Amino acid sequence: MPVDLKTLDFVHALRQATRGTEDWKAAFDQLLASVREEFVYDNVALYMLDARTHALDVAHARAAGRGKTSEADVSWGEGIAGQVIARQETIVQEPDAGPYQNRLDAPYLIGLPILAASRLRGALVFVRFGGPAYSDLHRLLAEWVAGTVSSMFESFALREARRELDSVQRQMRLQDDFASTISHELRTPLGFIKGYSTSLLRTDTHWDESTQREFLSIIVEETDRLDELIENMLESARLHSKTVKLKFQQLQLDAIVREVTARFRTHHPQLEVQLQFDRVPPIHGDGVRLSQVLDNLFSNAIKYAPGSPLTIGMSAGPKKLHLAFADQGPGIPGQYLPFVFERFYRVPAESRLSGTGLGLYICKQIILAHHGKIWAESILNHGSTFHIDLPINPPA
Ligand code: ADP
Repeated sequence: MPVDLKTLDFVHALRQATRGTEDWKAAFDQLLASVREEFVYDNVALYMLDARTHALDVAHARAAGRGKTSEADVSWGEGIAGQVIARQETIVQEPDAGPYQNRLDAPYLIGLPILAASRLRGALVFVRFGGPAYSDLHRLLAEWVAGTVSSMFESFALREARRELDSVQRQMRLQDDFASTISHELRTPLGFIKGYSTSLLRTDTHWDESTQREFLSIIVEETDRLDELIENMLESARLHSKTVKLKFQQLQLDAIVREVTARFRTHHPQLEVQLQFDRVPPIHGDGVRLSQVLDNLFSNAIKYAPGSPLTIGMSAGPKKLHLAFADQGPGIPGQYLPFVFERFYRVPAESRLSGTGLGLYICKQIILAHHGKIWAESILNHGSTFHIDLPINPPA
């Protein structure tokens, strides 16, 4: 068959259609739209093999215009898809000579195997109701489309595997870093406690009462720090293994924010906090856990954005309540922002400040347990904002 410029143009357009898109369904639709200029079909469906059950599930289906059957009803292709899987080859099925009253009773089917990484993954099936029959050229085109879909799946699968591998490697690195972070975090308060109690026990020195009190209060503070650290580790382990039971009740989030703010103001009289609250309805939540989220956000702001004024905004939409907790500190560099909610993650430059990388992870798990969402935005040298969405009526 001679190859003319039009054919080359067409093949080129098809290749372009599948490039540079992250979403395979969009790539698949683009490919099909381009194909339709040369290859008429009424409906198309992609059946994928479930790796575990080996059942054929419809992954995607399209009706192209002439077909009366809806996209959702793809029973017309199931039989041929099963045969393609069994025989692992292209199958063409045409109806008997007829006559037919209704062209929907005369389906012309072509089913093609979809392979990725040399494994059978599914079948692509086209149908033309009432014909025309598939010519050799059309069969070639359909095979070419199936080949392109196969390589599309292969590259999406590869990308997905790469992402998973990156994430596992990052987790392993974080676990390693955590072991050294945690021993440092445990040793620092222990060092203080040991140092000050040893000093108090010295028999060759006399400490006046106010010095004794100062040393003892340092020991108490450092013991609290150790206690908090251990509690955070246990809490993160409990949240990680999903063994935490939340105690849900009706509550006013604005009241909780006011309460936590007042507590932090008592301990940090210099702290400037502006509350910008709209009237918000009650939500269904665990007050203790939500206070814990706010505690973490306040502690982080004090640690990473020292001296910065804070603004806490709250508003309500029809379905959810939104809280924005903003500081005007140094911000978080964009390349680290996606990871700050991961367990043990710490922004590398911050390792000089004490911390374990558990605080935001704990916040995220608590908000997820409320069917909410938490995310961060940050502009370098301008500040960070932590956003929380909580459903007003969460699913039961
Ligand atoms: P930790 O404070 O123990 O390191 P977190 O999970 O609370 O752990 O925070 C993760 C990282 O996010 C911190 O190491 C810090 O770099 C960054 N971060 C959190 N809050 C802020 C903030 N308000 N401003 C700048 N960086 C922040």
